Amino acid sequence: MAETTVSLVGSTGSIGTQAIDVVDAEPGRFRVTALAAQRSVDTLVAQAARLRPELVAIGEESLAADLARRLPAGTEVLAGEKGLVAAAQAADVVVNAVVGFAGLPVTLAALESGRRLALANKESLIAGAPVVQPARRTEGALLVPIDSEHCAIHQCLARSGDAELARLLITASGGPFRGRQRDELASISVTEALAHPTWQMGPKITVDSSTLMNKGLEVIEAHELFFVPYERIDVVVHPQSIVHSMVELVDGSTIAQLSLPDMRLPIGYALCYPERLSIPFGAIDWATTTSLTFEQPDRATFACLDLAYEAGRAGGGAPAWLNAANEVAVAAFLEERLKWLDIAAVVAETLGQWDRSPLRSVDDVLAADAAARRCAAEAVAGRPGP
Ligand code: MG
Repeated sequence: MAETTVSLVGSTGSIGTQAIDVVDAEPGRFRVTALAAQRSVDTLVAQAARLRPELVAIGEESLAADLARRLPAGTEVLAGEKGLVAAAQAADVVVNAVVGFAGLPVTLAALESGRRLALANKESLIAGAPVVQPARRTEGALLVPIDSEHCAIHQCLARSGDAELARLLITASGGPFRGRQRDELASISVTEALAHPTWQMGPKITVDSSTLMNKGLEVIEAHELFFVPYERIDVVVHPQSIVHSMVELVDGSTIAQLSLPDMRLPIGYALCYPERLSIPFGAIDWATTTSLTFEQPDRATFACLDLAYEAGRAGGGAPAWLNAANEVAVAAFLEERLKWLDIAAVVAETLGQWDRSPLRSVDDVLAADAAARRCAAEAVAGRPGP
């Protein structure tokens, strides 16, 4: 089997380091040709010393000189957005594990250069859909989701045609506050929001899981990935995180994908597609798995879920506004400038100011993101804080 070349953009975060575990698991199957990170120089240097990529990129330009000095001789070093974009063109498979909207140039560069994009950065697809969708039509380009729910749906749909699909059922763990009422959530701390019951992830997505905004973003992501209308995408709470999502077919059959909550399975799926990784990272021990339960989400307490449906149905720039408002609100919460309950309030207030300007170009998407961030920052400043 020929080696697959892999570029890891966002190599120092949770997904990036787990992608390296997958690469290490099957020696000789993959070769890492590029690594990129925003600012974690020490981790990047250690990764590069072992993996010996040809290119190493750093987002924060002021760190480039220090990085270059510490890398093996002959390694190409690039900085800033152009560095991340070069890394996104440097391999057969490009893993986009950048956090948030900042991942858009990487998504576009990978698709426009006809690469397979292993997408962990859902925000770029959600906010940038009007420009990402045309890029998916580039010859050779292929988008394979790393998000566990969408990886599950991708697998469940593999043998079904569009005419056979009745609906998508996206599962949600429910996060750390499942079962709590609104008045019990008035004084949530950062530590409480970061204590996810089933998944170990970075701080932004962990807070998104606690508000169910992550699930809302995943509904939009599923719509954009699989072209299924919103009225046929449902969310089911499944606290064990074993069933990663399901598809219901027109004859009443439901097909589900099950595995342990281990991101190395969806990462391996995206790196190997259409083949399979031969290491069973997600294999279930049925002696210890005793029950799988399902319940409806509490849409009144976790208002972010319906805000995302609303933005998705509105289309155009609304998902970009939703995403930008959420990024601003989550950052403010993590910096203890905003109450957890006010994350949804800031998103709702910002979406209410959406100017409905159409998104036809990357510049339009960037302008929508910037406008929404300004509105969201004002909404944050107008609230009392924790
Ligand atoms: Mg997910």
